[in-house]
Formats: sequence, structure tokens, C-alpha cells
Amino acid sequence: MSTNIVVTFLGTTSGGGPIETRNCSSLVVDAIGDGSLWMVDCAEGTVRQFAQQPLSSTQRLKVNSVNRIFITHMHADHSMGLITLLRNILGFAPDPHAPPGFVGSSSNSRPPKPPILKVEIYGPVGLRAFVRTVLTLTHTRSADRYCVNELLMPGGIPSASRDVPEDWHSSEVGGRDILCSDDGFWREIVVQERDRSTPIVVSAGPIVHRDPCIGFVFSEQSPREPESTSNTESQTGPAQNTLDCATIPRTLVILGDTSDPSALIPLIKEDASRSVSLLIHEATDAYIPHHIDSRGTTGSKSRNHETVRTKAIAKGHSTPAMAGAFARQIGAERLALNHIGSRFPAPPPHAGPSNFRHLCMREIEHQATRAWQPINGNRAVAVSDFDRIVIPPVFKSSGDVEGMGGSEVVVAVETTVSLTVLEQLEEVMAEPHSHGPARGRGSSGGRGGWRGGHRQHGQHGHFRSHNRQHQHDSTAGEGSIDRKREHSGRHDSASTTNSSQHIKRPRRGDDQ
Ligand SMILES: [Zn+2]
Ligand SMILES: [Zn+2]
Repeated sequence: MSTNIVVTFLGTTSGGGPIETRNCSSLVVDAIGDGSLWMVDCAEGTVRQFAQQPLSSTQRLKVNSVNRIFITHMHADHSMGLITLLRNILGFAPDPHAPPGFVGSSSNSRPPKPPILKVEIYGPVGLRAFVRTVLTLTHTRSADRYCVNELLMPGGIPSASRDVPEDWHSSEVGGRDILCSDDGFWREIVVQERDRSTPIVVSAGPIVHRDPCIGFVFSEQSPREPESTSNTESQTGPAQNTLDCATIPRTLVILGDTSDPSALIPLIKEDASRSVSLLIHEATDAYIPHHIDSRGTTGSKSRNHETVRTKAIAKGHSTPAMAGAFARQIGAERLALNHIGSRFPAPPPHAGPSNFRHLCMREIEHQATRAWQPINGNRAVAVSDFDRIVIPPVFKSSGDVEGMGGSEVVVAVETTVSLTVLEQLEEVMAEPHSHGPARGRGSSGGRGGWRGGHRQHGQHGHFRSHNRQHQHDSTAGEGSIDRKREHSGRHDSASTTNSSQHIKRPRRGDDQ
């Protein structure tokens, strides 16, 4: 049966980082339901982010669970953690030079297990040579194996087919050169079967950045309609198919750095039965208006929306409004902003509504949401490291989900906070320009409307999106957007979810 798809952000800043509050780009997707994780991008320090997770030991994601890695492009802030990650995943091979009897010696009495292909990597041309070269130069000998599959742009020179095994690293298994189709897409580069669910399919396409860059589309395959409803059918076959037919296939669009991902639109929209459950789009720079940033903390006082947009595009990046506009184009139901520029440190846990960093994030989210104008009343979320987004299955119910793109999303904050606080916050954010009507604050606002949908004092961004029809997955939390950054070591008395273990870490004073 379909379960929650969970995205966990391990690094959320741009190449200007890492900074104290954010690592550079990486995220993992838990979509298969067998404990495995798929990673998208792997900045330096990603392995350490696994160790830094502010979760209890039973909830912590494990490096060893990563069995597929998708690299959007070769820039250092997206790829330089790969070698360390592979060292961790593949394990150490016995050292042929170690004296007999030493730990790691190949002459220990216990015969080594035969190596297995532990992880497959997908990415642009150059990735195979990069991994091979660094593993070789660092004298890395691994117990298990990896392979690299390169996605070739038109005119790209294949390398796998010209390789000979003698050139491979000792831990390498020959990968594939994946050619794009005539319309420029790499379709079905992965088709991963799932137990009791439809497969997950990964396709990809090029997006505009300074250098070759890829956007990935993770989709649930549309289920076949059951051929028979006979009671004699087995309970695990057609019965399951019926369940899958009752859900709307979910799609995640996960982009690398980009100033224009519109080339992906035909790929995203080619299966009309799917809904874009989540778009993850970069927002590297943003203009923070004077009424929030009167001191020019986030940049020169001569900046404005247009100059920031122009400069972002020139560098191959996007503003929050550009991310929102793309979310609108593809009908995204949720929008997460990552690759946040290093000028925007993550707010401290439990930041109050007047906290400067918090106000900047709110403004970034607001700019994206205003361009997005989602019909389900959602709002964009500027993510921080260790935030999670939980996407439950969406069940068709009496045909009434069609009008909102296939997902009932009711976002509710977990804690009770006085409307006064929210109203004060909205007043701050609303000046001097109008932000339009406040959405569904504690009221219906129509299906999918916000329930007090702003982060608030002492609570720092617990968003909980609850689909009343979805079946809860106890391991993934019960919300479809579940932001957890409970890593301050300070107990938030207002929070109603305290299952996570608090981890104390030193922080620079928050005086902005
Ligand atoms: Zn980047
Ligand atoms: Zn880049």
C-alpha cells in the first residue's frame, strides 16, 4: 500500500556556504518504503549532516541506507561530498599490506564477504571520471561496489562504452551512458519496483544554469485499472491494485541550480494523471525590503527587486518570485525553496516573530507564494537543514479532488498561539506593500486553506499538513509537511510534538 513519501533536507545553502546554520546542497527522499534512501546532490559535509540529525536514534536516517544518488550538476557545492559518502557506504576492503592478524588484514581467517553493488550514481558527464580519479588518488579501497551512470546531453561524448575494466577503480562496476530522447529528456532512468505499490520512476531533463544542470522528476507510476473485482482474486494482487487505483500518483520535481527550468515542463506534464505534489526549487538570492532590512544587512541598500533578479539570472540562479512563477506554471501543490544564499542564515530554533532571520525567511516565502498563487491555499516554505516534508498518499474521494490538482492539503500549525501574535506579525510583513488577504487564519478558507499557517513565536516553523483521508505512517509522522528543527536543546513548552531528542549545539548569538 502506498505510504508517505518523505523528503529530508541535509543542506540548504548555496555555494557561498557552508555557513554556521546551513550546509550546502543535499537532500534525501524516502519513497520506496523499504528503508532505502535516494539522495539528490551531495555537498561536502553531507556525511556529517547525518551525524548531526536532531532526531532520536530510532528516527535517524542512516548513511548506509542511501543506494541511489542523483547529482544535478558538477559544481562543488553539489558534488564534493560524494567521495566521503562512498567511503562510508562501501566500507573498507581488507588491506593487503597489513601484517597478518591485524584488523583489516586480508589474511584474517574469516573469508571476506563477496562485494555487492551498493550504490548507483546518476549525473552529468564528468561525474564518472571525477569519482574514479578521486577514489584512485586517495588510495580508497572499498569492500563493496558503486557505479556511475552519466546522462548525456545532445552531442555529449559517451565514455562508459569506451571504458575498459582495466581503467575502472577497484570498487567500480561499469555504468551506463544514458542518451536523451529526441526531445531532450532522459526518461525512466530508474524504474524501481516497490512492495505492494506501483513503481517509482525517475526521469530527468536539462535546466538552465551557468553550466550543464539537470532537474529530476520522481513519479509514482500510474496504476493500471483492475481487470476484475471477483472475490476469488488474491488479496495481495488485484486488491492492492484497487488501492493504488484509489490514489493519485505523486510526483516530486527536484531541481538543481537554475535561472530557467521551463524546458522541463513537457516532461512534468506528459502524464496528466499525476499531480506535482512537491516542487523543490532554488532561491539563491532575494531582495529584502527596507522596512525589514533597514540596515542593509542582507546586501547593499541600492539593491531592489529588479537588480537582485537581474544579477541572479546572470549567475544562473533564481529569486523566490521566479521559483513561485515556475510552481504556478506546473501547478505544484507544495513549494520548497532551497539553495538559500549564504547572506540568509537559518533562523535559530524557536525564533520569535521579530527575529531578523525569521522575518527574512518569511519575506522570501511571501515573495514566492505571491508569484505562485496556489489554489490550495498553501504557501512556500524556505527550508532549513533537517527540515522534512512528508507527502501522504492522496486518495481519490467521490471525484472531488480534481479541482485542486489532486491533493487536499490543510496546513495547520501544531501549537496554539494567540491571533494577536499572528496579526502583529502580518502587520509587520504587510508594510509597506499589500500582501493580499490573509489566508484562512484558523478558518476554513475553503478546502486546503491555511489553519493559522504562519510560523510563530516560540515555535519556529512546525508546519503540519494533514490529509484527513490518508492513512498514517507511524514512522514518518502524521503530517504531510512536517518541519522539525528541534535541535536547540531548549524545550519548547508550546510544542505538542516532542518525540525528537533534543541535541544541544553551540550557536552564535542571534542579534540580527
Ligand atoms: Zn549551487
Ligand atoms: Zn551551480
